[in-house]
Amino acid sequence: MGNEIYFDNSATTRISEEALKTYLSVARSEYGNPSSLHGMGKDAETVLKNARQTIAKTVGDTAGGTVLFTSGGTEANNLAIFGRAHAKPRFKGKTILTSAGEHASVKMPLAALADEGYKIVEIPTTGGRLDPEAIVKYATPDVILASIMLVNNETGALYDVPAVAAALRRSCPDAVLHVDATQAYLKVPFSVKTLGCGLLTLSSHKIEGPKGTGALWIDPGVIRNRGLVPILLGGGQEAGLRSGTEDPPSCAAFAKAAAVGYSALAERIARLTELRERLFEKLASNPFLSLSGVRANLPPVASPHIVSLTIPHFKSETMLHALSARGIYVSSGSACSSHGKHGTSALSAFGLSDADADATIRVSFSHRNTVEQIDLFCDALSEEITRLVRF
Ligand code: PMP
Repeated sequence: MGNEIYFDNSATTRISEEALKTYLSVARSEYGNPSSLHGMGKDAETVLKNARQTIAKTVGDTAGGTVLFTSGGTEANNLAIFGRAHAKPRFKGKTILTSAGEHASVKMPLAALADEGYKIVEIPTTGGRLDPEAIVKYATPDVILASIMLVNNETGALYDVPAVAAALRRSCPDAVLHVDATQAYLKVPFSVKTLGCGLLTLSSHKIEGPKGTGALWIDPGVIRNRGLVPILLGGGQEAGLRSGTEDPPSCAAFAKAAAVGYSALAERIARLTELRERLFEKLASNPFLSLSGVRANLPPVASPHIVSLTIPHFKSETMLHALSARGIYVSSGSACSSHGKHGTSALSAFGLSDADADATIRVSFSHRNTVEQIDLFCDALSEEITRLVRF
């Protein structure tokens, strides 16, 4: 840890000391295989059970859902999508709803299902809002799955997922709602009840837990109806839905990070909101940045930790490297801005032209960032624009 300004917390976070301590303690002591029948196996199984209970609490599960551990958000999304689509071949419906601009770990499985003959329908997200008319229009009885993220990873847009749940309840008897809450978790308040979802994706490394760990929360109704089949076959761990020896140290550390984040949620949101507002204030009060056309791509409702900034005429990679050389870490807003076979990128879906999307960086905060870092970032941005414009 040096004097870096790390504004790439949506890409990943630094593991917290509490989570790291938990990892080390479990790795040293409860190192048995949770499937072993002896006492050390039982101890490891108890670690997993406690971690599941903690995570269930942080997503407001009071209905006794299943927390199934995975290798991260990507695997949880793949399991939700393939596991659901392949669970019910007796259903005639083959339509899957999604939002325009989902993460690749949702888009790519859906593209693979399209190749299998499923019909994938994208709800537009122009301006960072799920189109309410499209939600109603596309919620037809042949929908078997809707996969909608709660917070978009590039724009920070917070989508009206409960409206999708309501439309599905009204018109789609066979549909399960899957929510990718990877970016929303412990950044905006929500519960599985208020979302009305059957499947929920979480990732540990976005909330100061270890990398390579995540979870899929599954509603009891989905389990009862056998509405999900595994994508990994083997020893039948995780209720037969995700084979492979579990990783109790990582699961316990993930749960520790979740518990700490959950108990501090209100303060963390207040902190993130303060940072975001400071950035907007600085952008508005710096005539050089305004004259350079620097602008935030603002959704109507957003998570406080992500801000998408377009800096016209400067390729995002160029700006990213220029800032990186000064110890300031952001990410480029869009790796691919076109409307390809695998669905629309989030920035195009938002309404940005390809040129603007290519000139967009993403700044993403942690509750550990400071107002001074925002000020330093804005100063550095002005200086780098001045320097780069000379080329
Ligand atoms: N969904 C979203 C919205 C994400 O931002 C990410 C991480 N970039 C993922 C899924 C994938 O999560 P993981 O890195 O844990 O596989």
